[in-house]
Amino acid sequence: MTHTPPSAGVPQTPRVTGEVPGPRSREYLERQARRESTARSYPYRLPIAIARAQGAYVEDVDGNVFLDFLAGAGVLSLGHNHPDVIAAVTDQLGVLVHGLDFPTPVKDRFTELQLAQLPEPMRERTRIHFCGPTGANAVDAALKLCKTATGREDVIAFQGGFHGATLAAMSVTGLVSQKEPVRGRMPGVHFFPYGGSARCPVGLHPDGCNAHAAAFLEHALTDPNGGVPLPAAVIMELVQGEGGVVPADVEFVQRVRAITRELGVPLIVDEVQTGCGRTGTWFAFEQYGIEPDVVVASKALSGVGLPVAIILYDEKLDSWAPGAHTGTFRGNQLAFAAGVAALDVYAREDTLANVAERGRQLLSRLEELKKTTDWVGDVRGLGLMQGVELTDPVTGRPAGGLAKAVQAGALRRGLILEVGGRDDCVVRMLPPLNVTAADVDFAADTIAAALAEALAETEPTVQGGTRI
Ligand code: PMP
Repeated sequence: MTHTPPSAGVPQTPRVTGEVPGPRSREYLERQARRESTARSYPYRLPIAIARAQGAYVEDVDGNVFLDFLAGAGVLSLGHNHPDVIAAVTDQLGVLVHGLDFPTPVKDRFTELQLAQLPEPMRERTRIHFCGPTGANAVDAALKLCKTATGREDVIAFQGGFHGATLAAMSVTGLVSQKEPVRGRMPGVHFFPYGGSARCPVGLHPDGCNAHAAAFLEHALTDPNGGVPLPAAVIMELVQGEGGVVPADVEFVQRVRAITRELGVPLIVDEVQTGCGRTGTWFAFEQYGIEPDVVVASKALSGVGLPVAIILYDEKLDSWAPGAHTGTFRGNQLAFAAGVAALDVYAREDTLANVAERGRQLLSRLEELKKTTDWVGDVRGLGLMQGVELTDPVTGRPAGGLAKAVQAGALRRGLILEVGGRDDCVVRMLPPLNVTAADVDFAADTIAAALAEALAETEPTVQGGTRI
């Protein structure tokens, strides 16, 4: 018996009629606001209630259809409800759903395929641990592993980094607003400047100073009066996602790898957002010519939004006692089945090649924005993880209000975008990795139109008494 899923009817083209939110979305949002915690986040800026979704398109309860360049915050690498993945999940539903951490045929296959994605030299020495099914839980696991293996306490993290919302993951995250109200964070975390921006992280050097950032870290770790005991780990993203789509500088990363290796400090690379092909290679670290000691992966592992999280680590760190990092939901067989099917689709459709091509297309289309206004401070990204940073051309300050206006204007035109970075001044794009050229063009055109509209409404900066 063939079954046509209800989502198959979602139009594959944007269509917005009337106001956003429409009347039915408004009802859901109002009920949500009455019943749910104020800590909810996306619906504040993307005020829709979602009815169903297919591919790169989301339909709200009012029948509006949006192109989804948020894609579940980077989870939906093959878009919503890829039919092959759904078929594999549906088959698995009748076999086994929950398996704790027992071996099962589908988990065995998933494990084999995950290890096979690693570069050859890493495969043999890599172990996998299945964590509670969120990125933050896997970050916690990575930190616990490194602390256990080294017997050390301190951790080095980078400014602008984001690693999740559990107490430990938040402690190594740069976002001050999330951690400030919470007393009693994980102790021993030291933040260093991230060598990633074209500009100096502390605004001193006009041409950036990524080499300085690496040297600063090296100095702190080797100076007997540097204030930082030899740490249990250094944790970093290779493209800071929530921090505003900031790709790390290659030389910076290589120097961090060299220092950590020299000092015997495990390097944790958080690939929760960059992993599973988002940047054009399975993992972003492949483009940096390094081998990390621990890789954290989650979001897109199942390709369809079923939760799963893993750490991949050098077996020399395998000092854990049985049960050292447990979690009831570590055996999501549906996610494993989905992940296996998703990798099949990646191979058949050459998804990574699409990331490279569509990534180039998106970047060059976004670059055009620079010619239209001097509010575009930067356009950057890797693969299909890209951002447009909006800054005040006079003061150089982040223009978060403008970015949010672009996000709202894009939504009204049928495009879902995210914002992030300092003061949320970066318009972020995380489309499905199988996005089409036509959809990329629509997104670029929409962002241009939303930006032009938002600029027309932006109160001109007043500086030194002169209206600019
Ligand atoms: N690390 C990175 C790099 C992330 O982007 C995120 C989520 N945005 C996390 C960790 C946390 O993942 P989760 O929300 O699944 O806990």
